[in-house]
Amino acid sequence: MIDFELTAEEKAKIQEAHAVAEKKFRPVSRYYDEHEHEEPQEIIDFMWENRGKGFVTGLGVVGALMVEELCWGDAGLYLASPGPGLGGAAVFAAGTKEQWGKFLARFNEGKPKWGAMAMTEPGCGSDTSAIQATATRDGDYWVLNGEKIFVTMGHRALDLSEGIIVVWASVDKSAGRAGMKSFVVEAGTPGMKVEKKEKKLGIKASDTVTVTFDNCRIPFSNILGKAEVKSKTEGFKGAMATFDVTRPMVAAQALGVTRAALDMLRDEIDKRGIKIRYELPRSKQTALERDFIEMEANWRAAHLLMIRAMWQLGSGQSNALEASMSKAKAGRAATLITQRAVELMGPLGYSRKNLFEKFMRDAKINDIFEGTGQINTLVVARRLLDYTRDQLK
Ligand SMILES: Cc1cc2nc3c(=O)[nH]c(=O)nc-3n(C[C@H](O)[C@H](O)[C@H](O)COP(=O)(O)OP(=O)(O)OC[C@H]3O[C@@H](n4cnc5c(N)ncnc54)[C@H](O)[C@@H]3O)c2cc1C
Repeated sequence: MIDFELTAEEKAKIQEAHAVAEKKFRPVSRYYDEHEHEEPQEIIDFMWENRGKGFVTGLGVVGALMVEELCWGDAGLYLASPGPGLGGAAVFAAGTKEQWGKFLARFNEGKPKWGAMAMTEPGCGSDTSAIQATATRDGDYWVLNGEKIFVTMGHRALDLSEGIIVVWASVDKSAGRAGMKSFVVEAGTPGMKVEKKEKKLGIKASDTVTVTFDNCRIPFSNILGKAEVKSKTEGFKGAMATFDVTRPMVAAQALGVTRAALDMLRDEIDKRGIKIRYELPRSKQTALERDFIEMEANWRAAHLLMIRAMWQLGSGQSNALEASMSKAKAGRAATLITQRAVELMGPLGYSRKNLFEKFMRDAKINDIFEGTGQINTLVVARRLLDYTRDQLK
């Protein structure tokens, strides 16, 4: 039986994350939205000092619910918080215990550090089989060459800290997907360079950069998974295992921003003396009431899917279907709900005096990274219908 009831201790942790979101993130939320590329130093210091509380790891149901709370406060500041991030999730999903020690222990000691993951290239996003970056074996080393774009937290991981980046590259282009492997590169490795920072629509407190690799040499043991090119799907399994962790995490981020918009909308409706009459039949409710109830129901459906995907992950079950399902649903729900909140508020929704327009901008990314809504829907369809990648494109 699945039981998602939380213990008193778990509830207290989530409440603590909510307090951080409310008292630390929200007061500076607009400032860092309007000062893109400025370091939110007070947040970085606070989050690093309090890293032991597990606010940002996002693993398990409680971890995901804590991430949801932080993103209720500000999704960009959550992403900017030091921690292993997507790179850490990749090491966790596809690495050995020795690699966990070598690459993840740093996130518990010393100065603030970040982790990043780089798959996307100028000519390759959704279609990861088109990856052009290469990893060539040279004795006890791999030599990486290529260009990665839109790397979340690449600047802070590589320029500002002794962090890590997990890089996807092909060890054998003739083998297609089977030749694709992931490699951990430590900050400061010669041949790796952060080239430029993007200016973005939302999540502006997070950094997004281009990283180039020019004969970048890393130890042979930095490969995640096996080096041999065997079956057609072997190499890609590592990536998929990473997505099983990161997709529900992104769903949790989406749900946090979306709930922020819903909560603010409810407050505004309350202020106007309007009560949502849940008990009335649909035909007797106003359009506003119907819209609001529909938005809440949509949010809750996405929330339950995310919890299920995280619960499966935490209990060692396969969650590949639910990970994509929860990400596709939450990304879409976030886009629709935050946009509807702006519409319902009229000029107040569009104005920068309120955060509605910011929530809408911050929400959209969740339907893009870690597989777009369309790609995750495709993954779900393939899995439900038992079609291969070639049968359903
Ligand atoms: C702010 C930000 C941060 C990011 N962070 C990272 C990161 O940390 N690491 C990283 O590796 N990448 C990152 N990305 C890149 C992101 O994962 C890609 O943008 C995304 O996967 C889409 O790839 P693409 O941009 O090449 O779009 P394309 O693949 O060209 O897609 C364009 C459109 O076509 C649709 N489409 C494509 N193929 C199909 C299909 N078969 N069926 C139906 N529709 C399809 C897509 O859904 C999309 O709507 C980030 C992007 C942004 C904007």
